[in-house]
Amino acid sequence: MDLFEYQGKQYFARYGIPISPGEVADTVEEAVAAAERIGYPVVVKAQVQVGGRGKAGGVKLAADRAEVELHAGSILGLDIKGHVVRRLWIERATDIEKEYYASFTLDRAAKLHLAMVSARGGVDIEQVAEEAPEAIARRHVNPLDGLSLADARALAEEAGLDVEALDGAAEVLVSLYRCYVEGDADLVEINPLVLTADHRVHALDAKVTLDDDAAFRHPEWQEFEGTGEIDERERRAKERGLNYIGLDGTVGIIANGAGLAMSTLDVVNQVGGSAANFLDIGGGANADVMAAALEVINSDAKVKAILVNIFGGIVRCDEVARGILTALDRVELSSPIVLRLDGTNAKEAREIIAGRSSDKIISEPTMLSAARRAVEVAGAGLGTETVGGRS
Ligand code: GDP
Ligand code: MN
Repeated sequence: MDLFEYQGKQYFARYGIPISPGEVADTVEEAVAAAERIGYPVVVKAQVQVGGRGKAGGVKLAADRAEVELHAGSILGLDIKGHVVRRLWIERATDIEKEYYASFTLDRAAKLHLAMVSARGGVDIEQVAEEAPEAIARRHVNPLDGLSLADARALAEEAGLDVEALDGAAEVLVSLYRCYVEGDADLVEINPLVLTADHRVHALDAKVTLDDDAAFRHPEWQEFEGTGEIDERERRAKERGLNYIGLDGTVGIIANGAGLAMSTLDVVNQVGGSAANFLDIGGGANADVMAAALEVINSDAKVKAILVNIFGGIVRCDEVARGILTALDRVELSSPIVLRLDGTNAKEAREIIAGRSSDKIISEPTMLSAARRAVEVAGAGLGTETVGGRS
């Protein structure tokens, strides 16, 4: 679960990481009222879960009431890379001397935590990472050892932080590490971590991704739920009790069993396509589950072909085939469907499908041929203006 900046900062504050006083505001009036309480100058900040808000005009300094009105008015409703701003964070403006970068995340390959610190933080950190990776100091942290204040100071020094920032930065790093470990986060990032004109070290932005698998021991996380930007497709799937994960490709996927679903994604990739989702319908490949699955996949505008990959072990393929046809009567599909049914009673299943086959309902005998066909159909954009582009 990703947190908004204002939530991330509240999370940081629990671990003693210094942040600026601020308040959320959902309207221009609330923004002004918040600024009046906080005291000028303030910063008006768009709350969207996407980076680069500053460059997109979503972060503005306001010296007085009139400027808060102006900026809050222009930022609310602003579209930042497809995310529409519905909420603002108003905080006391900081007098910045230097902008640094600090983060902790998990290095899965090394099976260790990874700390990254740079003296070149701010809005161009991605560019720094690409053009001058040596400007980012990296250090693995063994979870059994933890991060001592001395380690943290050495890391800040290695990163080239200014001498006056070293002690403050070391304290922030130790607190940030605790926030990451005890707070069960997958990622904590401060960019920029600033050195203020009066030489304090302070978090000016917050990016926190919580580990959903740890939610059971954090009842307090409930306050974050429902405020996040959830994928519309995933919301629909959850409503229908489906095991669905949205992806970015054009081939919608339905399979029975998580392993088969994952293999299906791999095969689609292998033949040059890209999956629009992961969806495991488990053992319940009946008409209701199939219709629910098709509804969710159908709601995804990017999907250009649907691949159904069912292996009948306990479930019988002829039943699945009947279920699919019943589901197809209920859901009007906007893209063709390719079916691969194999296993128990596969022959009967194919006969049932054959009675209904068309250029929109295609049956294939193997997983590979079905994946090829689905990718081909998706590429040809059958059913759109490019019909007949490929055969
Ligand atoms: P991002 O662009 O989405 O990462 O948003 P940030 O919260 O990191 O803000 C972007 C930039 O705005 C920062 O790098 C700062 O340069 C600037 N900024 C943010 N808060 C303040 C502030 O309190 N004072 C000043 N002077 N600049 C700020
Ligand atoms: Mn930032």
